[in-house]
Amino acid sequence: NDYTYREVMQYISENDVKFIRLAFCDIFGKQKNISIMPRELSRAFEEGISFDASAVRGFMNIEMSDLLLFPDPTTLSILPWRPSQGRVVRFFCDIKYPDGTPFEGDGRQVLRQAQEDMRRLGYSVKIGTECEFYLLRQDENGLPTKIPHDNASYLDIAPLDKGENVRRQICLTLEEMNMRPEASHHEQGPGQNEIDFAYDSAVTAADNMITFRSVVKTLAASNGLYASFMPKLFRDHAGNGLHINLSLFQHGENLFCNPNESHSPVVESFIMGILTRCYEISAFLNPLVNSYDRFGNYEAPRYITWSHQNRSQLIRIPAAHGVNQRMELRSPDPCANPYLAFSLLIRAGMEGIERGLKLCDPCNLNLYDVPASLVREYDCLPSNLNEAIKASQNSEFVHRSLPEKIIDAYLSAKTSEWNRYVDASDKSSMIDSLYFS
Ligand code: GLU
Ligand code: MG
Ligand code: MG
Repeated sequence: NDYTYREVMQYISENDVKFIRLAFCDIFGKQKNISIMPRELSRAFEEGISFDASAVRGFMNIEMSDLLLFPDPTTLSILPWRPSQGRVVRFFCDIKYPDGTPFEGDGRQVLRQAQEDMRRLGYSVKIGTECEFYLLRQDENGLPTKIPHDNASYLDIAPLDKGENVRRQICLTLEEMNMRPEASHHEQGPGQNEIDFAYDSAVTAADNMITFRSVVKTLAASNGLYASFMPKLFRDHAGNGLHINLSLFQHGENLFCNPNESHSPVVESFIMGILTRCYEISAFLNPLVNSYDRFGNYEAPRYITWSHQNRSQLIRIPAAHGVNQRMELRSPDPCANPYLAFSLLIRAGMEGIERGLKLCDPCNLNLYDVPASLVREYDCLPSNLNEAIKASQNSEFVHRSLPEKIIDAYLSAKTSEWNRYVDASDKSSMIDSLYFS
């Protein structure tokens, strides 16, 4: 449902809405919001609602701290877990300076621009995500423990699988919010779950990812559980991946459709563009120190390769039919800022098309299981956050794809996380204190 301004005003007055959340993300993809009363909404649309941007990580310094939120009427959604009398709705917002210029730190607008540039080239990208997360027990003080909610494994059923009720609530809640979850299941790790989404345009897919994370956290908590998206919680169990499925449309037609098993040159160039830039954008796809512990085991990739089926590869082109054909990028993890991640992927694919890149040969080896001598010829993803940060800093592609303000603030925050990690005497409790709370 894409609401217009008029429909929004009508919806608010007819549905007993009492609180309006104006939502946005910091540059790390962490959602923030401010609540306004319904009578303020027309002012929000016209003049914007100000907030102290110096208190948002990565946004502004204290000297110039006012920014304004302008709700995007097409993103109206009820928050179904809030009271049904005196309802609460949420909008995602665009962020502007007081003089009306768009704020460069606003990932949503960065992504919208990437989408727009792709459209100008004649294509549109659709994105569908598959997001994994762990459900963990809380202690008697309501704090998260590292004890998984169950001991089930891939596609297990109840009573082994104790996640069925939470997944049910999550999927129904997402539907009430006009989102389209497609499938849900227990994943490999104990307490690990996954929910997959129908594809959508890039900005909507990123908004949905943000909403998804908050729905999962909220409903887990209301069931006395803690949901963690941390990329690698347990050394001896699967990490949490965020598989990003991308398809490319031209004149409403999915170019990934290949009745005779061969891909169009445009699709091949698009894929090659992403393969080419994947290394240097890793800091944005895999943002945490422990993102890099996930690579190379439990079906998470390590080498920069592609194949039709094999799950050890970075890019897989799964067996699918018709409009669902796509490429699956397997390296990202759920802690990424989806706005920045999707922007970089769209721009990498776009560059591939513009340069007419030729796709390299597929790799059909099981990369977890072959002698080192054989895999030596493949490039690897960065082996740690520091290597990834350096690669982004030195990447002219990153510098022409994101506003300098975002790159600076993002990479310097990541560098200080890395330094804290290096300096810590107890690395694992340092990771927990940074990311697990
Ligand atoms: N959990 C795996 C990862 O870390 C992915 C498993 C799967 O193929 O769904 O990426
Ligand atoms: Mg999975
Ligand atoms: Mg997958």
